[in-house]
Amino acid sequence: MNEPSAVARRLILLVDDDPGTIQVLYRTLSSYGDVRFSTSAAEGLQMARELQPDLLLLDFEMPGISGLEVCRQLKADPRTADIVVMFVTSHHETDLEVQAFEMGAVDFIAKPVRPVVVQARVGTQLRLKALADALRQAALKDGLTGLANRAAFEAQLAWEWRRALRAAVPLSLLMVDVDHFKRFNDKYGHLGGDAALQQVAAQLQRATQRGGDLAARFGGEEFVVLLADTGGQAAQQLAERLCAAIAAVAIDVESSSEPARVTVSIGVATFDARSVEPSFGAAPKPATLVAAADRTLYAAKAAGRNQVVFEPLDASNPARLATARAAPTG
Ligand code: GH3
Ligand code: MG
Ligand code: MG
Ligand code: MG
Repeated sequence: MNEPSAVARRLILLVDDDPGTIQVLYRTLSSYGDVRFSTSAAEGLQMARELQPDLLLLDFEMPGISGLEVCRQLKADPRTADIVVMFVTSHHETDLEVQAFEMGAVDFIAKPVRPVVVQARVGTQLRLKALADALRQAALKDGLTGLANRAAFEAQLAWEWRRALRAAVPLSLLMVDVDHFKRFNDKYGHLGGDAALQQVAAQLQRATQRGGDLAARFGGEEFVVLLADTGGQAAQQLAERLCAAIAAVAIDVESSSEPARVTVSIGVATFDARSVEPSFGAAPKPATLVAAADRTLYAAKAAGRNQVVFEPLDASNPARLATARAAPTG
C-alpha cells in the first residue's frame, strides 16, 4: 500500500501578475513544499491542469482572465476540482469575498502579504488537504485486502468501457469466486477465512501490474479483475495462471498446524467493440460485461470448480452480442 499522502511532499502553485508578490510568497513557502509559479492567469490555469497542485495561491486581479474565473474553471473540472484555492488580494469588499467563497475558494490572504500569516494559513490548508486526500483514498479501498473496492471498480469499468467503445479496443473482465468458502470458514474460522481472502487478493494484485489493469473486491469472497485493451485469449491465459497460482498458495491459519488451501472458479468475458456495428440497435452497457462474466463463473462452478470458463461478447457469439446491444441500462 502507498504511504499516506499526509507525509508526501506537497505542490504549491503561485499565480500573480505581480513579480514582487510572487517573490515574497516563493521565499515564504519554499519549506512547505515544491513551489511553482506563473505571472500569467492563462498559463497558471494550464499549469494547474498539468501539475494538479495541492494548493493554488491566486491573485484576484490579473489582466486577461480574472482570478475568480480561473477558480471557476478549476472547480468545474473534476480533474482539478480538489485543488485548494486561496485568494491573494488587496480588495476587501464583502461581496467579492462572498463570491470567491461561493466559487469554492477556502481562504483569503491580504496584500501586502505578511510571511508569518501566510505560513500559518497555508500550513492549516495543507494539513486539511492531506486529510481529505487520505479520506478520498480510503473511500476507494477495501479494508481487509487493500484492493480497490466495489465503488472504485464501478468507476473504472465505466471509464474503460467508454474508452473501449471510442478507441475500438477489447476489454476483458474476470469474475473470481472462492470455491466452497463456507466450508473453509467452518473448518478454519472466520479469521482463517480472512487470511485466505488476503492471500487471494495478493495473487490478484501481483497478476495485475499493468497500467490499465484493476483488481478489486466485488463483495464477500468475490473479486473482479478488469483488463483494459486485452482480448479474450490473453484474458483466459491470465485467468488460468491465476487459478493455478491461488491453488498453490499455502495459507497460514492459526487454528491449524497444516497450511490450508483454497481454489477459485473464474468466469472470463471479453467485449470487443470492433464487432459492434454502430448503426445496429442500442449501444451496449458495461453491466453486460459483468453479467457475462457472472454467467461464465456459474458455468465454471457447475463444471466442477477450480477452473476457468470464457465467453466472448463479439461477432463469434452473435446471440450474446445481440443481447448486449439490446441491454437496457447498466
Ligand atoms: P461456492 O463454491 O459455490 O462459491 O461455495 P461457497 O461456500 O464459497 O459460496 P457461498 O456464497 O455459499 O459462501 C460464501 C461464504 O463467504 C459465506 C460467507 O460467510 C463467506 N464470506 C464472505 N465474506 C467474508 C469475509 O469477509 N470473511 C470471511 N471469513 N468470510 C466471508
Ligand atoms: Mg494582480
Ligand atoms: Mg460467492
Ligand atoms: Mg464461493
